[in-house]
Amino acid sequence: MNYRQNITFFSVLGAAIFGALMVWPRAAMTEQDPAPQKQATPTIDEYQPKSTLVTKEHKIERAKFPFVDIHSHHWNPTREEVDRLVKDMDTINLRVMVNLSGGTGEQLKNTVAAMKGRYPDRFVIFANMSYDDLNTPGFGKRVAARLEADVKNGAQGLKIFKNFGMDLKYANGERVHVDDPEFDAVFEKCAELKIPVLIHVAEPSAFFDPWDYHNERWEELKEFPGRARPPAKYPPFETLMAERNHLFAKHPKTNFIAAHLGFHGNDLARLGKLFDENPNVYVDIAAVLAELGRQPYSAHDFLVKYQDRVLMGKDIYDVNEYKWYFRALETRDEYFEYYRKRHAFWRIYGFEVPDEVLKKVYYKNALKLVPGIDAKAFPE
Ligand SMILES: [Zn+2]
Repeated sequence: MNYRQNITFFSVLGAAIFGALMVWPRAAMTEQDPAPQKQATPTIDEYQPKSTLVTKEHKIERAKFPFVDIHSHHWNPTREEVDRLVKDMDTINLRVMVNLSGGTGEQLKNTVAAMKGRYPDRFVIFANMSYDDLNTPGFGKRVAARLEADVKNGAQGLKIFKNFGMDLKYANGERVHVDDPEFDAVFEKCAELKIPVLIHVAEPSAFFDPWDYHNERWEELKEFPGRARPPAKYPPFETLMAERNHLFAKHPKTNFIAAHLGFHGNDLARLGKLFDENPNVYVDIAAVLAELGRQPYSAHDFLVKYQDRVLMGKDIYDVNEYKWYFRALETRDEYFEYYRKRHAFWRIYGFEVPDEVLKKVYYKNALKLVPGIDAKAFPE
Protein backbone atom coordinates (compact mmCIF):
# COMPACT_ATOMS: atom_id res chain seq x y z
CA MET A 1 0.00 0.00 0.00
CA ASN A 2 1.25 3.38 -0.87
CA TYR A 3 0.28 6.53 0.99
CA ARG A 4 -2.71 7.27 -1.26
CA GLN A 5 -3.96 3.69 -1.06
CA ASN A 6 -3.66 3.86 2.74
CA ILE A 7 -5.81 6.94 2.92
CA THR A 8 -8.47 5.34 0.73
CA PHE A 9 -8.38 2.10 2.74
CA PHE A 10 -8.81 3.85 6.09
CA SER A 11 -11.52 6.13 4.75
CA VAL A 12 -13.52 3.17 3.50
CA LEU A 13 -12.96 1.24 6.75
CA GLY A 14 -13.95 4.28 8.82
CA ALA A 15 -17.09 4.83 6.83
CA ALA A 16 -18.00 1.14 7.13
CA ILE A 17 -17.55 1.18 10.94
CA PHE A 18 -19.45 4.44 11.26
CA GLY A 19 -22.23 3.09 9.06
CA ALA A 20 -22.43 -0.15 11.08
CA LEU A 21 -22.61 1.77 14.37
CA MET A 22 -25.44 3.88 13.00
CA VAL A 23 -27.41 1.04 11.45
CA TRP A 24 -26.85 -1.87 13.84
CA PRO A 25 -28.78 -0.62 16.86
CA ARG A 26 -31.71 0.24 14.60
CA ALA A 27 -31.55 -3.16 12.93
CA ALA A 28 -31.49 -4.80 16.37
CA MET A 29 -34.40 -2.65 17.53
CA THR A 30 -36.40 -3.43 14.40
CA GLU A 31 -36.01 -7.15 14.98
CA GLN A 32 -37.42 -6.99 18.51
CA ASP A 33 -40.10 -4.36 18.00
CA PRO A 34 -41.34 -4.08 14.44
CA ALA A 35 -42.74 -0.66 13.74
CA PRO A 36 -46.55 -0.89 13.26
CA GLN A 37 -47.72 -0.64 9.71
CA LYS A 38 -48.83 2.82 8.95
CA GLN A 39 -52.66 2.85 9.03
CA ALA A 40 -55.19 5.46 8.26
CA THR A 41 -57.08 6.68 11.33
CA PRO A 42 -60.35 4.69 11.54
CA THR A 43 -63.68 6.43 11.58
CA ILE A 44 -65.77 6.15 14.73
CA ASP A 45 -67.84 3.41 13.02
CA GLU A 46 -64.77 1.43 11.97
CA TYR A 47 -63.05 1.45 15.34
CA GLN A 48 -64.39 -1.63 17.12
CA PRO A 49 -61.78 -2.68 19.67
CA LYS A 50 -62.07 -6.21 21.02
CA SER A 51 -61.77 -6.30 24.78
CA THR A 52 -58.89 -8.44 26.04
CA LEU A 53 -60.40 -8.57 29.52
CA VAL A 54 -60.67 -12.09 30.91
CA THR A 55 -63.26 -12.29 33.68
CA LYS A 56 -66.21 -14.43 34.77
CA GLU A 57 -69.11 -14.54 32.31
CA HIS A 58 -72.64 -15.79 32.90
CA LYS A 59 -74.71 -16.06 29.77
CA ILE A 60 -78.26 -16.19 31.12
CA GLU A 61 -80.76 -17.32 28.51
CA ARG A 62 -83.77 -17.61 30.79
CA ALA A 63 -84.95 -15.33 33.60
CA LYS A 64 -84.55 -16.71 37.12
CA PHE A 65 -88.25 -16.08 37.84
CA PRO A 66 -91.25 -15.81 35.54
CA PHE A 67 -91.66 -12.20 34.53
CA VAL A 68 -94.03 -9.62 33.09
CA ASP A 69 -92.80 -7.47 30.21
CA ILE A 70 -94.69 -4.25 30.91
CA HIS A 71 -93.53 -2.53 27.70
CA SER A 72 -93.98 -4.28 24.35
CA HIS A 73 -95.54 -3.37 21.01
CA HIS A 74 -97.49 -5.65 18.67
CA TRP A 75 -99.74 -3.91 16.16
CA ASN A 76 -102.67 -5.98 14.93
CA PRO A 77 -100.91 -9.32 15.40
CA THR A 78 -102.07 -12.34 13.39
CA ARG A 79 -102.87 -15.76 14.90
CA GLU A 80 -99.57 -17.13 13.62
CA GLU A 81 -97.61 -14.25 15.14
CA VAL A 82 -99.29 -14.77 18.49
CA ASP A 83 -98.62 -18.52 18.46
CA ARG A 84 -94.95 -17.90 17.67
CA LEU A 85 -94.79 -15.23 20.37
CA VAL A 86 -96.03 -17.62 23.06
CA LYS A 87 -93.46 -20.23 22.04
CA ASP A 88 -90.70 -17.58 22.22
CA MET A 89 -91.95 -16.34 25.59
CA ASP A 90 -91.79 -19.83 27.08
CA THR A 91 -88.11 -20.18 26.20
CA ILE A 92 -87.11 -17.15 28.31
CA ASN A 93 -89.64 -17.45 31.18
CA LEU A 94 -91.66 -14.48 29.94
CA ARG A 95 -95.00 -15.27 31.57
CA VAL A 96 -97.10 -12.21 30.68
CA MET A 97 -96.51 -9.81 27.82
CA VAL A 98 -98.11 -6.36 27.96
CA ASN A 99 -98.94 -5.11 24.47
CA LEU A 100 -99.08 -1.33 24.76
CA SER A 101 -100.33 -0.89 21.20
CA GLY A 102 -103.93 -1.98 21.52
CA GLY A 103 -105.47 1.11 19.95
CA THR A 104 -109.09 1.93 20.73
CA GLY A 105 -112.56 0.84 19.58
CA GLU A 106 -112.62 -1.92 16.97
CA GLN A 107 -108.83 -2.21 16.79
CA LEU A 108 -108.67 -2.75 20.54
CA LYS A 109 -111.35 -5.43 20.36
CA ASN A 110 -109.49 -7.23 17.56
CA THR A 111 -106.16 -7.11 19.38
CA VAL A 112 -107.74 -8.43 22.59
CA ALA A 113 -109.36 -11.25 20.59
CA ALA A 114 -106.13 -12.16 18.77
CA MET A 115 -104.00 -12.25 21.91
CA LYS A 116 -106.10 -12.70 25.07
CA GLY A 117 -108.86 -14.53 23.27
CA ARG A 118 -106.49 -17.40 22.58
CA TYR A 119 -104.07 -17.12 25.51
CA PRO A 120 -106.07 -15.41 28.28
CA ASP A 121 -103.38 -15.50 30.94
CA ARG A 122 -100.36 -14.70 28.74
CA PHE A 123 -101.25 -11.24 27.43
CA VAL A 124 -102.37 -7.86 28.68
CA ILE A 125 -103.52 -5.15 26.25
CA PHE A 126 -103.30 -1.43 26.91
CA ALA A 127 -105.58 0.97 25.04
CA ASN A 128 -104.42 4.15 23.30
CA MET A 129 -106.10 7.51 22.75
CA SER A 130 -107.38 8.55 19.34
CA TYR A 131 -106.78 12.24 18.64
CA ASP A 132 -109.01 12.32 15.54
CA ASP A 133 -111.56 14.58 17.23
CA LEU A 134 -109.02 16.62 19.22
CA ASN A 135 -110.38 19.90 17.86
CA THR A 136 -114.04 19.22 18.57
CA PRO A 137 -115.19 20.60 21.97
CA GLY A 138 -115.64 17.95 24.68
CA PHE A 139 -112.68 15.89 23.47
CA GLY A 140 -111.32 14.88 26.89
CA LYS A 141 -114.69 13.61 28.12
CA ARG A 142 -115.18 11.60 24.93
CA VAL A 143 -111.74 9.99 25.29
CA ALA A 144 -112.65 9.06 28.87
CA ALA A 145 -115.88 7.43 27.65
CA ARG A 146 -114.05 5.57 24.88
CA LEU A 147 -111.48 4.35 27.39
CA GLU A 148 -114.23 3.06 29.67
CA ALA A 149 -115.63 1.08 26.74
CA ASP A 150 -112.14 -0.21 25.85
CA VAL A 151 -111.67 -1.44 29.43
CA LYS A 152 -115.06 -3.21 29.22
CA ASN A 153 -113.72 -4.80 26.04
CA GLY A 154 -110.62 -6.12 27.78
CA ALA A 155 -108.05 -3.29 28.02
CA GLN A 156 -106.12 -3.25 31.32
CA GLY A 157 -104.28 0.06 31.06
CA LEU A 158 -103.72 3.18 28.97
CA LYS A 159 -100.51 3.83 27.02
CA ILE A 160 -99.66 7.36 25.91
CA PHE A 161 -97.12 7.66 23.11
CA LYS A 162 -94.34 10.21 22.83
CA ASN A 163 -96.07 12.49 20.35
CA PHE A 164 -98.10 13.68 23.37
CA GLY A 165 -96.38 16.86 24.56
CA MET A 166 -94.08 17.09 21.55
CA ASP A 167 -95.68 16.68 18.12
CA LEU A 168 -99.38 16.67 18.95
CA LYS A 169 -100.90 20.08 18.16
CA TYR A 170 -104.30 21.73 18.10
CA ALA A 171 -105.62 23.03 14.79
CA ASN A 172 -104.45 26.53 15.80
CA GLY A 173 -100.87 25.23 15.94
CA GLU A 174 -100.63 25.24 19.71
CA ARG A 175 -98.75 22.29 21.21
CA VAL A 176 -100.74 20.00 23.49
CA HIS A 177 -98.97 20.34 26.83
CA VAL A 178 -98.43 17.19 28.89
CA ASP A 179 -100.52 18.69 31.72
CA ASP A 180 -103.24 20.10 29.42
CA PRO A 181 -106.47 20.33 31.52
CA GLU A 182 -108.46 18.99 28.55
CA PHE A 183 -107.08 15.54 29.43
CA ASP A 184 -107.87 15.69 33.16
CA ALA A 185 -111.07 13.69 32.59
CA VAL A 186 -109.00 10.89 31.04
CA PHE A 187 -106.57 10.60 33.93
CA GLU A 188 -109.38 10.78 36.49
CA LYS A 189 -111.15 8.00 34.59
CA CYS A 190 -108.01 5.84 34.88
CA ALA A 191 -108.05 6.31 38.66
CA GLU A 192 -111.75 5.42 38.76
CA LEU A 193 -111.20 2.30 36.59
CA LYS A 194 -108.07 1.45 38.67
CA ILE A 195 -105.91 1.04 35.58
CA PRO A 196 -102.36 2.38 35.23
CA VAL A 197 -101.18 4.91 32.65
CA LEU A 198 -97.88 4.04 30.99
CA ILE A 199 -96.66 7.32 29.59
CA HIS A 200 -93.69 8.23 27.41
CA VAL A 201 -92.77 11.89 27.83
CA ALA A 202 -89.83 13.52 26.03
CA GLU A 203 -86.74 11.61 24.90
CA PRO A 204 -83.18 11.18 26.22
CA SER A 205 -82.00 14.66 27.19
CA ALA A 206 -79.06 14.33 24.76
CA PHE A 207 -81.56 14.44 21.87
CA PHE A 208 -82.42 17.99 22.90
CA ASP A 209 -78.75 19.02 23.04
CA PRO A 210 -76.69 20.20 20.05
CA TRP A 211 -75.57 17.37 17.77
CA ASP A 212 -71.86 17.93 18.21
CA TYR A 213 -68.85 15.81 19.16
CA HIS A 214 -69.68 16.14 22.85
CA ASN A 215 -73.15 14.60 22.50
CA GLU A 216 -73.11 11.08 23.99
CA ARG A 217 -75.85 9.98 21.55
CA TRP A 218 -73.93 11.34 18.53
CA GLU A 219 -74.01 7.96 16.80
CA GLU A 220 -77.75 7.47 17.18
CA LEU A 221 -78.46 10.99 15.94
CA LYS A 222 -76.25 10.33 12.94
CA GLU A 223 -78.19 7.14 12.16
CA PHE A 224 -81.60 8.70 12.87
CA PRO A 225 -81.38 12.49 12.44
CA GLY A 226 -85.16 12.68 12.94
CA ARG A 227 -84.69 11.79 16.60
CA ALA A 228 -83.05 15.15 17.31
CA ARG A 229 -85.25 17.59 19.23
CA PRO A 230 -83.85 21.00 18.23
CA PRO A 231 -85.20 24.03 20.12
CA ALA A 232 -86.58 25.56 16.91
CA LYS A 233 -89.14 22.74 16.66
CA TYR A 234 -89.52 21.32 20.16
CA PRO A 235 -89.98 22.50 23.73
CA PRO A 236 -86.88 22.11 25.91
CA PHE A 237 -86.41 18.85 27.85
CA GLU A 238 -86.90 20.68 31.14
CA THR A 239 -90.22 22.16 30.02
CA LEU A 240 -91.52 18.67 29.27
CA MET A 241 -90.26 17.37 32.61
CA ALA A 242 -91.99 20.21 34.46
CA GLU A 243 -95.29 19.58 32.64
CA ARG A 244 -95.02 15.84 33.27
CA ASN A 245 -94.30 16.30 36.97
CA HIS A 246 -97.25 18.67 37.24
CA LEU A 247 -99.45 16.00 35.62
CA PHE A 248 -98.28 13.38 38.14
CA ALA A 249 -98.94 15.76 41.05
CA LYS A 250 -102.42 16.82 39.98
CA HIS A 251 -103.71 13.24 39.68
CA PRO A 252 -102.46 11.60 42.89
CA LYS A 253 -105.01 8.78 42.65
CA THR A 254 -103.86 7.77 39.17
CA ASN A 255 -100.91 5.37 38.91
CA PHE A 256 -98.38 6.42 36.29
CA ILE A 257 -95.58 4.28 34.89
CA ALA A 258 -93.06 6.66 33.33
CA ALA A 259 -91.51 4.78 30.41
CA HIS A 260 -87.73 4.41 30.09
CA LEU A 261 -86.85 5.36 33.70
CA GLY A 262 -88.62 8.66 33.03
CA PHE A 263 -85.47 9.61 31.07
CA HIS A 264 -83.67 10.10 34.38
CA GLY A 265 -81.59 6.93 34.05
CA ASN A 266 -78.55 9.19 33.81
CA ASP A 267 -79.52 10.95 37.06
CA LEU A 268 -80.93 8.41 39.50
CA ALA A 269 -80.94 10.86 42.40
CA ARG A 270 -83.35 13.00 40.40
CA LEU A 271 -85.57 9.99 39.73
CA GLY A 272 -85.47 9.14 43.45
CA LYS A 273 -86.69 12.65 44.23
CA LEU A 274 -89.55 12.23 41.76
CA PHE A 275 -90.53 8.99 43.52
CA ASP A 276 -90.28 10.61 46.97
CA GLU A 277 -92.56 13.44 45.90
CA ASN A 278 -95.10 11.29 44.01
CA PRO A 279 -96.14 7.95 45.55
CA ASN A 280 -98.26 7.30 42.43
CA VAL A 281 -95.22 7.20 40.08
CA TYR A 282 -93.42 4.09 38.81
CA VAL A 283 -91.00 3.48 35.94
CA ASP A 284 -90.02 0.76 33.51
CA ILE A 285 -86.45 -0.01 32.42
CA ALA A 286 -87.30 -0.61 28.76
CA ALA A 287 -84.51 0.29 26.33
CA VAL A 288 -82.53 2.14 29.02
CA LEU A 289 -80.65 -0.79 30.52
CA ALA A 290 -77.36 0.77 29.43
CA GLU A 291 -78.02 3.66 31.81
CA LEU A 292 -78.17 1.30 34.78
CA GLY A 293 -75.37 -0.87 33.43
CA ARG A 294 -72.88 1.97 33.31
CA GLN A 295 -73.34 2.69 37.03
CA PRO A 296 -73.68 -0.74 38.65
CA TYR A 297 -73.16 0.39 42.27
CA SER A 298 -75.68 3.22 42.00
CA ALA A 299 -78.11 1.04 40.03
CA HIS A 300 -77.97 -1.70 42.64
CA ASP A 301 -78.54 0.66 45.53
CA PHE A 302 -81.28 2.52 43.67
CA LEU A 303 -83.18 -0.69 42.88
CA VAL A 304 -82.91 -1.85 46.48
CA LYS A 305 -84.17 1.50 47.76
CA TYR A 306 -86.96 1.90 45.20
CA GLN A 307 -87.74 -1.80 44.69
CA ASP A 308 -91.49 -1.12 44.79
CA ARG A 309 -91.35 1.39 41.93
CA VAL A 310 -89.46 -0.24 39.05
CA LEU A 311 -90.83 -2.66 36.43
CA MET A 312 -89.23 -4.93 33.87
CA GLY A 313 -89.83 -3.92 30.26
CA LYS A 314 -88.06 -4.33 26.93
CA ASP A 315 -89.81 -2.16 24.27
CA ILE A 316 -88.89 -3.27 20.70
CA TYR A 317 -89.60 -6.98 20.72
CA ASP A 318 -86.75 -9.40 20.02
CA VAL A 319 -86.70 -12.61 22.02
CA ASN A 320 -82.91 -12.76 21.74
CA GLU A 321 -82.32 -9.40 23.41
CA TYR A 322 -83.88 -10.07 26.83
CA LYS A 323 -80.77 -11.90 27.99
CA TRP A 324 -78.93 -8.63 28.51
CA TYR A 325 -81.59 -7.65 31.02
CA PHE A 326 -81.27 -10.97 32.85
CA ARG A 327 -77.49 -10.72 32.90
CA ALA A 328 -77.51 -7.14 34.19
CA LEU A 329 -80.14 -7.78 36.87
CA GLU A 330 -79.00 -11.24 37.98
CA THR A 331 -75.18 -11.24 37.77
CA ARG A 332 -72.12 -9.17 38.61
CA ASP A 333 -70.55 -9.71 35.20
CA GLU A 334 -68.26 -6.89 34.21
CA TYR A 335 -67.69 -4.79 31.14
CA PHE A 336 -69.81 -6.68 28.63
CA GLU A 337 -71.06 -5.44 25.30
CA TYR A 338 -74.57 -4.01 25.06
CA TYR A 339 -77.02 -5.15 22.39
CA ARG A 340 -77.66 -1.74 20.86
CA LYS A 341 -74.48 0.17 20.14
CA ARG A 342 -76.22 3.39 19.20
CA HIS A 343 -77.77 3.56 22.69
CA ALA A 344 -74.51 3.13 24.49
CA PHE A 345 -71.03 3.99 23.37
CA TRP A 346 -69.85 1.99 26.35
CA ARG A 347 -69.96 -1.49 27.85
CA ILE A 348 -72.11 -2.38 30.82
CA TYR A 349 -71.83 -4.14 34.18
CA GLY A 350 -74.17 -6.45 36.06
CA PHE A 351 -75.64 -5.09 39.30
CA GLU A 352 -77.11 -8.31 40.72
CA VAL A 353 -80.05 -7.46 42.95
CA PRO A 354 -81.35 -9.69 45.80
CA ASP A 355 -84.08 -12.18 44.87
CA GLU A 356 -86.78 -10.23 46.70
CA VAL A 357 -85.96 -7.13 44.62
CA LEU A 358 -85.73 -9.18 41.44
CA LYS A 359 -89.20 -10.65 42.04
CA LYS A 360 -90.65 -7.16 42.47
CA VAL A 361 -89.05 -5.87 39.27
CA TYR A 362 -89.92 -9.02 37.32
CA TYR A 363 -93.56 -9.39 38.38
CA LYS A 364 -94.72 -8.28 41.83
CA ASN A 365 -94.93 -4.58 40.98
CA ALA A 366 -96.81 -5.37 37.76
CA LEU A 367 -99.25 -7.60 39.68
CA LYS A 368 -99.87 -4.70 42.05
CA LEU A 369 -100.46 -2.12 39.32
CA VAL A 370 -102.18 -3.95 36.48
CA PRO A 371 -105.57 -5.43 37.28
CA GLY A 372 -106.44 -8.94 36.17
CA ILE A 373 -103.06 -10.68 35.91
CA ASP A 374 -103.24 -14.19 37.37
CA ALA A 375 -100.90 -14.11 40.39
CA LYS A 376 -100.99 -17.90 40.75
CA ALA A 377 -98.62 -18.23 37.79
CA PHE A 378 -95.88 -16.55 39.85
CA PRO A 379 -93.96 -17.64 42.97
CA GLU A 380 -94.78 -16.11 46.38
ZN1 LIG B 1 -92.34 1.77 23.61
